[in-house]
Amino acid sequence: MNAVTPALPAPIGLLAELTHRCPLRCPYCSNPLELDRRSAELDTATWERVLAEAAALGVLHVHLSGGEPTARQDIVAITAACARLGLYSNLITSGVGGALAKLDALSDAGLDHVQLSIQAAEASNAERIGGLRNAQPQKFAFAERVTALGLPLTLNAVIHRGNIGEVPAIIDLAVQLGAKRLEVAHTQYYGWAYVNRAALMPAKPEVDRSIRVVEEARERLKGRLVIDLVVPDYYAKYPKACAGGWGRRLMNVSPTGKVLPCHAAETIPGLEFWHVQDHSLAEIWARSPAFSAYRGTGWMKEPCRSCDRRETDWGGCRCQALALAGDAAATDPACSLSPLHARVQALAVAESALETAPDYRYRTIGGAPAAIPEGVAP
Ligand code: SF4
Ligand code: SF4
Repeated sequence: MNAVTPALPAPIGLLAELTHRCPLRCPYCSNPLELDRRSAELDTATWERVLAEAAALGVLHVHLSGGEPTARQDIVAITAACARLGLYSNLITSGVGGALAKLDALSDAGLDHVQLSIQAAEASNAERIGGLRNAQPQKFAFAERVTALGLPLTLNAVIHRGNIGEVPAIIDLAVQLGAKRLEVAHTQYYGWAYVNRAALMPAKPEVDRSIRVVEEARERLKGRLVIDLVVPDYYAKYPKACAGGWGRRLMNVSPTGKVLPCHAAETIPGLEFWHVQDHSLAEIWARSPAFSAYRGTGWMKEPCRSCDRRETDWGGCRCQALALAGDAAATDPACSLSPLHARVQALAVAESALETAPDYRYRTIGGAPAAIPEGVAP
């Protein structure tokens, strides 16, 4: 493995958030509430330099993401740069807008993999969730062309109250569309998802049922479809190692060139983020104050500090700790060992029991909602 210093392995993945523009308006979007505008986005030459720096640093995978990455005119040139540099490229796309028109050129440029989002199996529900009419046929046509080109296809479905009953149909759809992999990803409550938490929170029995459905389908579809399951934090026993551990595996470059340890890190006040315009990726990885802030275990408080799992989940998610506990250095309240865990579970039960889910606050550029749900700190 490449190493920046003997003690600091190189990152393996780069999430290139090429733009925040997107034709869809998903209420669970993990993008920040203040979305970057097109006029502030990095230009092609800067992205090509960043990708070259990533390859030199030892990065193996580049996730071309957004927003909708195909909204950029230069997506083919950026993909070609990945191929030239030997970087495995994964296009994370909604499959709508101009995505299909660019797909053949992306394949010719050396694109390695496509991850297509779907909002639900049933078209009217999918289009209600994504906030865009006629999206589903575009997605199906896109998926068909992906497989016709011989590109590996992963389907990603974010699961919440509005589509959790459709998990069996989503699995069937993945098979029908020729996907090799399906991500059944229960909503992570960051960005717009945190604002919409009460509208999205599913009930625990439904979550348990969805997990059983996935486990049964994994057996039934062995050899045809791999199903990844992301379980919901608020009902979990232990948190996930967010981004594989802060500053351990991933770098995230925002549309304007800000480099983040995870896509939600900007929600933590006081962190100093460095920009690709001012520093190389190698400098940022090794020395940026934001990457150093929660790297390793030295920053941890109890109960994480003396916990056997501290180098397994790295204390969970710092952004979730801030949002729920009011302290980014606290144990993630999704952990059953956190003193706040019972309150988190009670909050999830109360929100999921609302007879009528609140209306979605759809993601929009320039439309950040004023009201942010409260956490569970006493
Ligand atoms: S989650 Fe929805 S709105 Fe957000 S980038 Fe993906 S497709 Fe677009
Ligand atoms: S106490 Fe901290 S390290 Fe231990 S399981 Fe919980 S979050 Fe992970």
